[in-house]
Amino acid sequence: MLIGTMNHPARDPLQEIEWIAAMGFDFVDLTLEPPLATARSVDLRAVAAALEKHKLKVVGHTAYYLPLCSPFEGLRKAAVAELKVCLEAFAFLGATWMNLHPDRQAPFYERKYVIERNLQTLNELLPLARDAGVGLMIENLPGSFNTVRQLADLLEPVPELGLHLDIGHANLLVDYNTTDDILAAYGKRLRHVHLHDNKGGSADLHLPLGTGTVDAAHYVRSLQLAGYDGTITLEVFTPDKQHLAYSRDLLRHFWDQPTSKTEKIAAKPSPAPAQAACVCR
Ligand SMILES: [Zn+2]
Repeated sequence: MLIGTMNHPARDPLQEIEWIAAMGFDFVDLTLEPPLATARSVDLRAVAAALEKHKLKVVGHTAYYLPLCSPFEGLRKAAVAELKVCLEAFAFLGATWMNLHPDRQAPFYERKYVIERNLQTLNELLPLARDAGVGLMIENLPGSFNTVRQLADLLEPVPELGLHLDIGHANLLVDYNTTDDILAAYGKRLRHVHLHDNKGGSADLHLPLGTGTVDAAHYVRSLQLAGYDGTITLEVFTPDKQHLAYSRDLLRHFWDQPTSKTEKIAAKPSPAPAQAACVCR
């Protein structure tokens, strides 16, 4: 298992890589987005050299607000074009996976339309991703894409699409955290994990581990029981880096606890999907 964290898109990515390396992380969850980290503006050679210098791996992250299902065809096409530039950048940097956030910004349309438009975008991106040698994965989002049933709308029609599980998001706008349900259904397609804490409800607080209601020790065990041994990003967005350091040490401690062969993921019935929206990344 590798532990990483994310650069702040409003800061110089080269300086971000320096502190991420200094804190001993294994990889950078590199988000390529405005204002200071777009795929078009970043000095990719310098970023590649910095990653190489610190022996850091990279996972591809993209802006959560790209209009993948926009009813305005020109906007949807523009999102595809921006993501193509991201794919090429991540291929250059040696990433093997790039995430996408499903879009739901199509007021006055039913869910069927939202799903079809997201799938249209995915199907346009997949050949580009294959050419770039970078896999695509979707991140669960509170509200519309946070339960097995909701994620199935995208994962079932596109078998090569990977799952990017955000355990903090799985705690929001649901009756209970949907992580175990999602792992039971799609654990074999899991390619990347985000971990952070919050207090349920709709606020995506990105707190340090242990400070909200997400049982990180339990979900670390769930990941292990699902056979996962890949990248976990600590998406802890607090100004004090000590919170991130504490979360890093706690995650390593949880991961290193011995597992019993008789443990199983306790599957729970799927909760009813909640409808409110929140801004999540
Ligand atoms: Zn996330």
